[in-house]
Amino acid sequence: MSFLQVQDVTHTYFSLQEKTTALENVSINVEKGEFVSFLGPSGCGKTTLLSIIAGIVAPTEGRVLFEGQQHDEKDRLIGYMLQQDYLFPWKTIEENVLIGLRISKKLSLETKQAALELLEKFGLHQVENKYPKELSGGMRQRAALARTLAVDPGILLLDEPFSALDYQTKLNLEDLVFNTLHTYQKTAVLVTHDIEEAIAMSDRILLFSKQPGTVHKTFAIPESLRKLTPFEARQEPEFQAIFQAIWKELNHLEQH
Ligand code: ADP
Ligand code: MG
Repeated sequence: MSFLQVQDVTHTYFSLQEKTTALENVSINVEKGEFVSFLGPSGCGKTTLLSIIAGIVAPTEGRVLFEGQQHDEKDRLIGYMLQQDYLFPWKTIEENVLIGLRISKKLSLETKQAALELLEKFGLHQVENKYPKELSGGMRQRAALARTLAVDPGILLLDEPFSALDYQTKLNLEDLVFNTLHTYQKTAVLVTHDIEEAIAMSDRILLFSKQPGTVHKTFAIPESLRKLTPFEARQEPEFQAIFQAIWKELNHLEQH
């Protein structure tokens, strides 16, 4: 049984004037420890699907299962990271990183120690007592990642977490996220519109078509690339071949 199962999910947004079917008959399985990307043009329903997986939005039809179960207390299992870091501006970096543990009443000497180790590992040891506005965008995203991991989630949902960063910072952060998730053997879903990022980070890419959003095609990333860090993978000839294949497919989608 897959760790995450999305079964026949259809989602329609209703307003007074119109209805928008954002997703139609989407079924996806993600295995434990797998890194899957949802790739597709803006408006194809990626964020909607991630919100449904997170339990923030209830799908119009279909269901989401974790280890075969429909969860009410999904919050315990899920770590969510967004383009904007949503750190609390009035709290220090250390307080921000501990907040999830505090809210879920899991703050103990051990969990605090583990969270502070994450901060140190992410090169934020010197800035623990600073406030978010005193940090660069890349540092804030690293703090957000530490906060997300501190509660030891079963799955990480990443919604374009690198898209607001400059290229250099983004490449460094990709490697950090990749290495960290491998070390802790976390299951993750990344939403992105960036083909290269999807290839560099993932085991598998699901390409979405839009209006309504459906899974158009799946690309399995070959083992030879998967074992490399995102930065290393980008240097491989095989990387270019997959890039071309996905590029073509995306162009084809846009024209139809
Ligand atoms: P993506 O993340 O791939 O850009 P979204 O999931 O944000 O796509 O949006 C999918 C579609 O649903 C779009 O057509 C968008 O306009 C529509 N949509 C998203 N959120 C809402 C909402 N709260 N109310 C109405 N329509 C929405
Ligand atoms: Mg989105």
